Order: sequence, then structure tokens, then C-alpha cells
Amino acid sequence: MSTLVIKDLKVSVTENEQERLILKGVNLTLKTGETHAIMGPNGTGKSTLSETIMGNPAYHVVSGSVTLDGVDLLRQTVDQRARAGLFLAMQYPAEIKGVTNIEFLRAAVNAQRDAADQLPVTEFLDRLDQNLALLNMSDAMAERYLNEGFSGGEKKRNEILQLLMIQPKFAILDEIDSGLDIDALQVVAKGVNAMQGPDFGTLMITHYQRLLNYIVPDFVHVMMDGRIVKTGGAELANTLEAEGYAGLRDELGLDV
Ligand code: ADP
Ligand code: MG
Ligand code: MG
Repeated sequence: MSTLVIKDLKVSVTENEQERLILKGVNLTLKTGETHAIMGPNGTGKSTLSETIMGNPAYHVVSGSVTLDGVDLLRQTVDQRARAGLFLAMQYPAEIKGVTNIEFLRAAVNAQRDAADQLPVTEFLDRLDQNLALLNMSDAMAERYLNEGFSGGEKKRNEILQLLMIQPKFAILDEIDSGLDIDALQVVAKGVNAMQGPDFGTLMITHYQRLLNYIVPDFVHVMMDGRIVKTGGAELANTLEAEGYAGLRDELGLDV
């Protein structure tokens, strides 16, 4: 079992040449085998949390720690974090010019493995075929340049393909449901659910309860104003859907 521990994490960003504190002390422990969801209104720091965990330099860690099995991730490069077993699906995936999807996947899969243990091409292609089929994706998608001209839905689907190919220990999925129609959402959920098992942990970030009908979380956390203000089970998402964040603000006596 692996454990990702976020302790009293405070993070700032630069705004008009000044530092603004966005995360104001986030505590969260994720274990493999668990599915967590973070919900919360826009602008409360959800993406800031995922970007910080993955090492985006625009996010400045003021204090606190992020460790994977006791190893300090904050001192590691993005590459090292990925190798350690983290996977981040971005809210806005980047296009990579001149690299085909299949080339990218092959490099990403092998980067996780020792030089002496590279995945043989045939095995890679078998796995790719299986996962393309699972996600109702055409072979042509694998041959295209990464994310270039991909529709919103194709990008999200492609990220789940990456997830299935790379097989990380932990995945942070930031708004993988945004802009998806119901069919695409079901396909994405199928992919994430296929990953689930004792060696995989997920942190899903979402505005909407809808996603959580398809990927049922063990824990739901609510983030407001840079802090996790409430944690519950899957039912918490339903309460939020019914009462909105305003109801929770009243309950907790928050004025954010
Ligand atoms: P959420 O994902 O919960 O909608 P974000 O983490 O994206 O929220 O943003 C939290 C706050 O931090 C917002 O006010 C946003 O404008 C600000 N912020 C996020 N990223 C940056 C950045 N790279 N530079 C400046 N401000 C940022
Ligand atoms: Mg947002
Ligand atoms: Mg966001």
C-alpha cells in the first residue's frame, strides 16, 4: 500500500507582483485502494492543489509538506514525481507539437520503468489496443499529434487512455467531467473504474455531483477558501447538490 500525505499545505501565487495566499492549510491523506473527491466552488484553490502536488512552478509552497510513502515530493522535479507514481490530468491539457499520441504514450510508459525493464513493443501495442477499445477510441486517435485539434471530449478521453497505459499509483483528475456529454462521461468513468483496485488511489476534483454517480467516491471533501472545510462519504455530494455550497456555509458559519 502507498500513502500520499498532504500536511498543512500553504501555497501562494503571484498576482500583480504580490504573493496571494490561495491554499491556507490543506490536510489530506490518500491511500491506494481509495477514491477521494474534492468539491468546491470556483476559485477556492482546487486546481492550485493539484498543480502544486504535480510541481507547477507558478504555485509557491509557503509551508507544509506533500509526501509519498514518506518521501518529500516537493523537492522533486515534475518528472521525478511522475516516476514516483503520480499522474495529473489537467483541467486544460496542453498540445504537444510534433509528437504523436502513440509516441508520447510509449515514452511515458517506459519512463516509469527501469532501463532493463522496458515494455516490449508488442506488449505495448496489445495494451494500447485493449485500452482504446475500452474507451471506444479509434486507432486513428493514437496516430494523431498529441491533443492537436482534439475536441474537449477527445482530450479528456485521451487523458484516461494515458492513465490506463501509465498505471500510476495515484491520479489527480481535475475536472475530467467538464464539458463532457453523458456518453463521454460514462466512457471516462469506465476507464477510471477499470483502474480501481488495491494498487491505485484517485483524487477527483469536480464541481458537479453528476460525475460521482459514475465513479463513486469513498470520501468527499469540500474545499472553500483554500481549506478543506468538511469531509464525508459519497452522500455528502448529494447533500451539496441539494443544498448548494450556501447551505454548507451557513452550517459551518463561514463567511466566504
Ligand atoms: P479552482 O480550481 O478551485 O476553481 P484555482 O485553484 O484555479 O481554483 O484558483 C484559485 C485562485 O487562485 C483564483 O483566484 C485564481 O485566480 C488564482 N490563481 C490560480 N492559479 C493562478 C496563477 N497561475 N496565477 C495567478 N493566480 C492564480
Ligand atoms: Mg475552476
Ligand atoms: Mg480548477
